[in-house]
Order: sequence, then C-alpha cells, then structure tokens
Amino acid sequence: MSHENTESPPETDPRPGELRTPESLLIVNTGHGKGKSTAAFGIMIRGVARGWKVGVVQFVKSGDWNVGEEKIGKQLGVDWITLGEGFSWDSANLDKDKQTGANAWAKAHDLLMGGEYDLLIFDELTYPLNWNWIETQPVLDALVGRPSHVHVVVTGRDAPQSLIDIADTVSEVQNIKHAYQQGFKAKRGIDF
Ligand code: ATP
Ligand code: MG
Repeated sequence: MSHENTESPPETDPRPGELRTPESLLIVNTGHGKGKSTAAFGIMIRGVARGWKVGVVQFVKSGDWNVGEEKIGKQLGVDWITLGEGFSWDSANLDKDKQTGANAWAKAHDLLMGGEYDLLIFDELTYPLNWNWIETQPVLDALVGRPSHVHVVVTGRDAPQSLIDIADTVSEVQNIKHAYQQGFKAKRGIDF
C-alpha cells in the first residue's frame, strides 16, 4: 500500500460537475483496521461545531467503560447512549442476547425515527448485526425510512452488503499493522 511520490498534483477538479446538497447522508465506516469509531467521532465534532443535535449510540460498549470519547462528547452536549451492557458475550445465553438486541434496537429505532437529532452515530452496530443479536432487515428499513434530515454514521467491521448497498458513503479501513500485533494492549488516549 505504499505510494511512491511520483504523482504530480491534479490539474483538473476531480469532482463531478453537478454536485447536489443532500438532505442527509448515511455513512458506513467498516474494515479491519483501526479508525472506524475515531473517524465517526470526528464527524461528531463537526456536527457539534455546526450547532447540530448529536447523539452517539454505542451498541457494544457498556456505560461503565468510561471511554474518552464519552467524556468529551458529554462535555460538548452530545447525548450518549450505551446499549452494550446487556450482551453476555459468551453466547451461552443466545435468547437473552437476542432479547437484549431487540431492546437495544428498539431504543435506537426510536431515537432515529423521532427526528430530534441532526446526527446519530450508531457505533459498532455491525457487531450485533453479524452475531444475529439484532435483525438486519428492520435496521435497513429504518435507515432508509428515517426522517430525511437525520445524518447517520454506522461503524464496525464486516458491514453487511445490504447495509453497504443503502449507504451514501462507505469507507473500509484496512489493517496494515496494529500495535496489538506487537503485543501492546489498548492505550488510554489512543484507543479509548
Ligand atoms: P478505534 O475506536 O480506535 O477507531 P475501530 O472503531 O476502528 O477503532 P473496533 O473494531 O471498533 O475498531 O475495535 C475497537 C478496539 O479494537 C479499539 O481499541 C481499537 O484500537 C482496536 N482495534 C481496531 N483495529 C484493530 C486491529 N486491526 N487489531 C487489533 N485491535 C484493533
Ligand atoms: Mg469502533
């Protein structure tokens, strides 16, 4: 993936001619490299800067993890909702996880459809989707049918193709190397 510096700067504007302003966008940050959630929190900051009402829904992390993004988000007036606490993680209790998933999605669905937010970040939504803890089709239906002014960012590895298909912008963060592979554990200030 390394680039040799042989390229000259672009001499023509690469953007298509007739750019429109969308009412809202659905953005998906996926892939196996580090940076999906941090990029979403970058958009969170841009939204705050524009005076938007912003909500972050964390589908996997629980409220007592006290991640740095939650601390600063709350200081910035962002609503922070953690839905992860109920998941059991050991898949010994799949029925309970499915129930937790249904409850979590019901809550997120109401936040989305209520139209109160300008921007909602559904952080790590792909994990409960891929574990079948949350049904994919109702999520797709809600995203497609959401109030037209609500921007949504979804993060997480292995975004389902059906989600990619309905999104406006999809970025795949590729893992080239990660400190974890050198045996380093998650670092405060960098990873959380
Ligand atoms: P970040 O929150 O740092 O942007 P992410 O959202 O891209 O990471 P997740 O799949 O949500 O990645 O994983 C969350 C945690 O796993 C973070 O602490 C992150 O540093 C770590 N992580 C991300 N990518 C990798 C990787 N390729 N190998 C090991 N750990 C990773
Ligand atoms: Mg993440």
